[in-house]
Amino acid sequence: MLSLRKTRPAPGAELMRHIIDPAIPPAGEVEIAVHATGICGSDLHAFHWDAGYEFMAGNLPVTIGHEFSGVVTALGPDVHEPGIGSRIVCWPTLPCGTCAACMADRASACGARSIVGLHRDGGFAPRVRVPAASCFRIPDSLPLDRAALTEPLSVAVNAVDLAEVEPGHRVAVLGPGPIGLAVAWVAKARGADVLLVGLDDEARLALARRMHIPHTADLDREELAKAAMRAFGALADRVIEATGHPGSIEQGLGILRPEGIFVAAGIHGKDCRLNLARFVREKKQLRGAHDTTRHAFEEAINLLDAQGDELIQLVTHRLPLSDAMKGFSLASGGDAMKVLLFPEKNPDERETERPLHVHGDTA
Ligand SMILES: [Zn+2]
Ligand SMILES: [Zn+2]
Repeated sequence: MLSLRKTRPAPGAELMRHIIDPAIPPAGEVEIAVHATGICGSDLHAFHWDAGYEFMAGNLPVTIGHEFSGVVTALGPDVHEPGIGSRIVCWPTLPCGTCAACMADRASACGARSIVGLHRDGGFAPRVRVPAASCFRIPDSLPLDRAALTEPLSVAVNAVDLAEVEPGHRVAVLGPGPIGLAVAWVAKARGADVLLVGLDDEARLALARRMHIPHTADLDREELAKAAMRAFGALADRVIEATGHPGSIEQGLGILRPEGIFVAAGIHGKDCRLNLARFVREKKQLRGAHDTTRHAFEEAINLLDAQGDELIQLVTHRLPLSDAMKGFSLASGGDAMKVLLFPEKNPDERETERPLHVHGDTA
């Protein structure tokens, strides 16, 4: 089957034929016919072999991709749930299952966790095997295209949870990529007033306005402090960063009110500078958000089911997996938001956004 595999600890990845063992899945696992897989920022980092992804070297070759939806087609010998034909999404964080964090159902805090698509074969392929316990059934009313947004939306829900966003809060979100825009959307859905900030990002900010984000600013044209004053008339109660540019931490702290919470959610290849005297005197908090929680994953499924008409606008490009290289170059540029890759079939043949009442919307 045609799969997108990272084969060497160097920039790039290869579209290649890859055989998975024809025997049934191993104990505890299911095989999934992949419907769609989104290109994530971490896929781009792995593809470009950015700093912070050296840990993958010991797992190569590996099929990348972790934001997928699909249908269960085969079960390991001891698996009964989810059954064959179940429409599912997968939380790609696989906990060790035995440490204190895992016992407390905090998989993302497990020091020995592994990630589907980074540590083991993932979803840029027609089929993928994952633990049954990592699968979440989705409602029949949720089309599989929309469901492929579950993982990135759940990352956004977790970042907003961590920021303790409340109705009426002034929330500035730095970085209008898929995660930043999803964060802004979730914060708005919780009743916050939201400013989304980009840098030379007019296409993405225009999409944000179409998704009813109340305020946007492009730092190409306006200073951050002025944009915050224009939007809020005051400092922000919360700042959430999804840029991956370390300078945005110091900048964002400058528009955060005393005792406000700053959540950093970008993956940073470099260190940041911090004026610690001011940080301490103003009693600010800086928190790191990464991955998600079971609760946030379930909330993301519910949001996509209830408000998918708006959230599906996050998907700007749909391509067959055979065009993965084009997809990666689109996703690396500033005009695309979420790029979905579809294995085997041409996406034009698909009835993509018809509400589904049957399990028949996959290959
Ligand atoms: Zn992701
Ligand atoms: Zn663990």
